[in-house]
Amino acid sequence: MTRPWWELDQLHLWHPYTQHGEAPPPLPVVRADGAYLYDEDGRAILDAISSWWVTLHGHAHPRIAEAVAAQAGTLEQVIFAGFTHEPAARLAAELSEVLPPGLTRVFFSDDGSTAVEVALKAAIQFWRNRGEKRNLIVALENAYHGDTFGAMSVSAPGVFTQPFGDHLFEVARLPEPSEGDTVAALEQLMEMRGNQLAAVIVEPLLLGAGGMRVWDATVLRTLRERTRNAGVLLIADEVLTGFGRTGPFFACGGAGVEPDVVCLSKGLTGGFLPLGATVFREEIFQAFRSPNRRRTLFHGHSYTANPVACAAARASLELLREPGCEHRRRGIEAAHRHHLPYVAEHARVRHPRVLGTMAAFDVEADGGYLSPIGRELSDFALRNGVLLRPLGDVVYLLPPYCTTPEEIAEVYRVIRRFLEGR
Ligand SMILES: *Cc1c(COP(=O)(O)O)cnc(C)c1O
Repeated sequence: MTRPWWELDQLHLWHPYTQHGEAPPPLPVVRADGAYLYDEDGRAILDAISSWWVTLHGHAHPRIAEAVAAQAGTLEQVIFAGFTHEPAARLAAELSEVLPPGLTRVFFSDDGSTAVEVALKAAIQFWRNRGEKRNLIVALENAYHGDTFGAMSVSAPGVFTQPFGDHLFEVARLPEPSEGDTVAALEQLMEMRGNQLAAVIVEPLLLGAGGMRVWDATVLRTLRERTRNAGVLLIADEVLTGFGRTGPFFACGGAGVEPDVVCLSKGLTGGFLPLGATVFREEIFQAFRSPNRRRTLFHGHSYTANPVACAAARASLELLREPGCEHRRRGIEAAHRHHLPYVAEHARVRHPRVLGTMAAFDVEADGGYLSPIGRELSDFALRNGVLLRPLGDVVYLLPPYCTTPEEIAEVYRVIRRFLEGR
């Protein structure tokens, strides 16, 4: 007798961010379409968090699915050192077109963490190649940049990184703009250790996994001005904020900020395939270009610039550039602005906030990220056909762009029923 496949899951799988000693078995999903996931019995679940922030236009979008199928049957993979292909070259040019001016050189990798690793390694080696020993990286408190060691080092210390603390490199921290004077702290750091600073890395306008904290474009612009004046690189981690999530195409672009390096992933392929990209200003690339092989960026992954992933990304970009997409994003933002105030009336709700297609609020509860309130809400929501996954006591919505105002209204109804204990 063959076992149902989900029993094999229990025997053989180790899930991400999951305490298997207490978590209920995961929900088997057999198919997805638009804003919905479907289980074996055909029950629909509204995906209000874009399956961990990746699904951009909707699940199984036919235009991306077609592009993936066509590319898979033509050129599925080729070594990217010494070889190249059209999907990568065209995607790089198209990204450069939509990114803030000056970002011309694209280095592909596999996901958000590796896009950040590439940015950090290139920033440190950039100075070395130029004969200056600057290797101090500066990051914000409450930042999240990924789970590999370099990305963990620049992320805020916390429950995610605690066991590895001894193995992370030194990072200078600035208070995040909602909690302190970020610019003054940077100026002070520049005075004390100015000649050691290699780069400042930020999640522009929205600290994601650190609690969906929204911060001010004025501060971002001032950080850009100060880093430019001091010749320090500014790395914008747009892994979450890219591709319209915060309203404009990129958070930096919307703020009128031109970073030196941008990290992209998550929505890059529309949520179809893993792909990361780190995009550099030409001057940084030129510091590596040399007859001296020691100046090479010795970094790469087996699947660097996978053609199928690049084809998915090109199809997703094309959808993003159609006028209907911006219209749908505005519709989502308007729905947030309409419904969130009703939730905010609840006595336990704090700091309601909307930034483009993202809406969030805090629920008064003990425990931070390990607070039980998040699990209680996600269980309740799932029983009511909605996928939510609060970051501890921070509840947020980040729906795919196909989500209708009526579907957004349904998510808020479920949240209100939870808060009212029904
Ligand atoms: C999710 C995220 C990452 C890490 O991306 P992975 O694809 O999960 O490795 C990095 N930076 C930001 C801002 C993110 O939100």
